[in-house]
Amino acid sequence: MNDTDLQSHPGPTIIARPDHNISRADISDNAIKVLYRLHKAGYQAFLVGGGVRDLLLGLHPKDFDVATDAHPEQVRTLFRNCRLIGRRFRLAHVHFGREVIEVVTFRAAAVEEHQQREQADSGRILRDNVYGAIEEDIWRRDFTINALYYNIADFTVWDYTSGMADVAARTLRLIGDPETRYREDPVRMLRAARFAAKLDFKIAPEAAAPIGRLGPLLRDVPSARLFDETLKLFQSGHGVKSLEFLVEHDLLQYLFPQTAKLLKGDEGEQTLKLLREGLASTDRRIGENQPVTPMFLYAVFLWHPIFERAESILKEYDVSQIEALLDACDEISSEQQSHTSYPRRYSVPMKDMLVMQKRFENRRGARAMRLLSHKRFRAAYDFLLLRASCGEAGQDLADFWTEVQSLPEGEQRKAFSVRRRGRRRPNQSQQDAGAGR
Ligand code: ATP
Ligand code: MG
Repeated sequence: MNDTDLQSHPGPTIIARPDHNISRADISDNAIKVLYRLHKAGYQAFLVGGGVRDLLLGLHPKDFDVATDAHPEQVRTLFRNCRLIGRRFRLAHVHFGREVIEVVTFRAAAVEEHQQREQADSGRILRDNVYGAIEEDIWRRDFTINALYYNIADFTVWDYTSGMADVAARTLRLIGDPETRYREDPVRMLRAARFAAKLDFKIAPEAAAPIGRLGPLLRDVPSARLFDETLKLFQSGHGVKSLEFLVEHDLLQYLFPQTAKLLKGDEGEQTLKLLREGLASTDRRIGENQPVTPMFLYAVFLWHPIFERAESILKEYDVSQIEALLDACDEISSEQQSHTSYPRRYSVPMKDMLVMQKRFENRRGARAMRLLSHKRFRAAYDFLLLRASCGEAGQDLADFWTEVQSLPEGEQRKAFSVRRRGRRRPNQSQQDAGAGR
């Protein structure tokens, strides 16, 4: 943005305290402390971003971000429990036990890009110049509803972009020209889907229109960032709706290309069913404050591609079903890594979990019984139930594994037809072996 652009932007609409519903009682005590301390030291201090948006919508923000004209070093002198992070754009994290309040100095978007180019020559001085005033900070933000500033000085909300009207109309509208904003950062397309799902908002037509055409820009986004975004989409309690938006806007292919391809094929309905049911169960768990793990999420997304690959390995090579599944897991997993790089601590146990789907089919013998004490049994069993609910595994098989878990050990042996240790002599009749248990 150049100076003429800046001048052409009107000042903020200031919404007075009686005309909005943000109450200090709903803001975390620690965020309030940070805001007041900055204010008392003579700086501007605003609550920004998701915190303001969620409070206006009557939701509970998951964290609070603060924006100020104080530079990071100045912020640090005000708080003992403060750490500066980030190399190029420094920001302050103020720690209160487990809660972290992020304090960001106003930045100037266009200057920022300009300096990125010049930085190699002149480093540090330029970095200082990146900081701007609130009037500049606004325009680097993505959606109008994310660019509302709550001022601790007088409890007003500053609105430069008609964000309040968009909150009321439940609309996601990009600030500025949509195509330009997506080109600057293609992840904004995924953020559009995520916020639409999370908030139950619609994407403004002009913001939705370029997504189909510009989607391929997501291929150049680092896979680690796409992994982070994947978790935000699918592990925040609105996974089913996120999926709907991604499918509608043809964006799933940039996160899970192998799965997206199957969705468009003959078995697409079945794949969609498993994804929906799997995400619904994750959403439920989040609603009940139960833990969720990317291992399960990735199993849900990759099971069909892996299964299909295993089938074709079986056709081509003389290997066992388990071997085919193991190989298919490795192949599909490593292909997936180049799109969303999920850490090995999830991909390795996922493999155990998926191979167990095959092992579950064998209900006899010590080997089958040992599955009950396998580290991944619980996750694999949950996945078996999911498959059964989608008609992909027999309900009787699922019931078997449900029932054996609650049996005492002796009964478990019977269920798996496992003889007691040391009773190997053929003169012991089956009837005796069962007696007295
Ligand atoms: P939530 O935390 O609920 O996911 P949020 O809006 O707080 O939502 P964050 O990713 O925490 O999202 O970002 C905080 C704020 O920073 C956003 O509200 C937005 O103003 C700005 N922001 C974040 N990411 C981008 C981006 N890619 N492009 C432009 N602005 C962004
Ligand atoms: Mg946030």
